[in-house]
Amino acid sequence: MFRPDRKWYAFLGRLTPVIEADLSHALRQAPGCPICWVVEEEVNRAFRWFFIDNYNDISTLMAIAEHPALCREHAQRLLRDGNDALSMTFQFLILRERQGLLHLRKQQNQGHLSTPWSVDRWLQWLRRGLTRFPPSRGCRFCRASEETGSTLLAVLLEKLLEEDWRSRYQVSFGLCRRHLREGLTQTVYPEVARFLLEEADRRLETLETEFELYFRRLDVQHADEPKGKEQQAWQEALRYFSLGEPDPNPKKR
Ligand SMILES: [Zn+2]
Ligand SMILES: [Zn+2]
Repeated sequence: MFRPDRKWYAFLGRLTPVIEADLSHALRQAPGCPICWVVEEEVNRAFRWFFIDNYNDISTLMAIAEHPALCREHAQRLLRDGNDALSMTFQFLILRERQGLLHLRKQQNQGHLSTPWSVDRWLQWLRRGLTRFPPSRGCRFCRASEETGSTLLAVLLEKLLEEDWRSRYQVSFGLCRRHLREGLTQTVYPEVARFLLEEADRRLETLETEFELYFRRLDVQHADEPKGKEQQAWQEALRYFSLGEPDPNPKKR
């Protein structure tokens, strides 16, 4: 999990006015969790820049090479939106990968030549070499999304001390389950925690009522009642549980 340090907070201080503007916009416009919505916008922007400029930028390449793994979602995205320019990106990653494997092979050979030779000793050498061949954990793009989410959430938790931000929050969708939980874990202000809990309960109570209404209107006795918001209650609930802003135009298979 991403853990902010002092450098990160200094960086955050410089960015705060921009983040506030993004959050304020998201509280008005986002169909779901404002944090997930801005993260999605930022990810889209980052991908646009990646394809324009960053695919061969050395600092970006080094950062990817540090944990060279792609989650399924981001691998699909590169396949869908990528082009031949990615040959440079992946050439770099393959060169680095071979260096790591070469180091591993050298280690292995040394282990094999060492005396007295044993399987245990050989495996020891092999595992030592694996530090240069890190596990396929932590997609770089997912990690960037997580960092952006934590930054936004930290600013929102501060802003919720102010009355006008609370009013803006009240008319928004509110936080999704993941960001609500993270917010409750991170906030140092009891009044903000209380406010978030009250708000979450109010929203869930509304959903509960809408589900009751939905099932009531399924009944033939009430079938002539006009249909309303309760028809979308399951979609609202889905947004609350979703780990990220759902794609508005998912392709049906
Ligand atoms: Zn969220
Ligand atoms: Zn990812």
